Amino acid sequence: MNHAASVFYRFLQQHALPRLRQRGNQLLGRQCFACGIRASQAICASCYGQITRPAICCRVCGLAMTGHSQDSRCKACIENPPAFHALYCAGNYQGLLAEAIVAAKIARQPAAIEALLLIQQRALSQLDASIFADYTVLPMPTPKLRLMQRGFNLPALLANQLAKQWQLTRLPDTVVKLPLSAPKQALMNAKQRQKHRHLYQISDKLPKKILLVDDIITTGQTLNSLAKATQQHGAQSLAGCNKTT
Ligand SMILES: [Zn+2]
Ligand SMILES: [Zn+2]
Repeated sequence: MNHAASVFYRFLQQHALPRLRQRGNQLLGRQCFACGIRASQAICASCYGQITRPAICCRVCGLAMTGHSQDSRCKACIENPPAFHALYCAGNYQGLLAEAIVAAKIARQPAAIEALLLIQQRALSQLDASIFADYTVLPMPTPKLRLMQRGFNLPALLANQLAKQWQLTRLPDTVVKLPLSAPKQALMNAKQRQKHRHLYQISDKLPKKILLVDDIITTGQTLNSLAKATQQHGAQSLAGCNKTT
């Protein structure tokens, strides 16, 4: 895609299509992104009910455990505690939640992005917001190349929504940078990119309490790397909040 076509495509994705969809919703009524039935929001109650959560999870890393442990921490967190003190997940990366993530990140469906924001909103409403009253929100940085391909930044959108819902300050995206420019990343193979992924550059002294926001978590390593980097810049208490486990 040449530059003009890519700019036009991004304009379509970011401005024209959401407005058209909004107008369509006003005229026709909204649809659930997953099952297509008329719904008052981007995801209907029945589809939302299909999102699963771990029955037992570690109180530190939030990841699923097969059984209870002595102090509700998983083996990995006991042996090698992460830099963050708690992690909250909206649901398991399977079924409908996995579909929503793929539809948002790969197919770039605005309705799926809207549904994910709503899923996060509901998950947050289950938590005690007063615990986080003095936290500052920081989204996980996304490689520029991926942002250019995608045209939107899901962790940043989730962080905006969280900051709005809990009325917290949100740090600007420029505070944390990944070390590689888009052209440099494009020249690297997957292994080289992986090696440089976690070398975060932090420009300012950070607030003491930080709430990191990401869209997907697998092992928690990425979140832990950023948590460690932020600690070197003054952050002391860190919590993570994300979509899936
Ligand atoms: Zn539905
Ligand atoms: Zn754990």
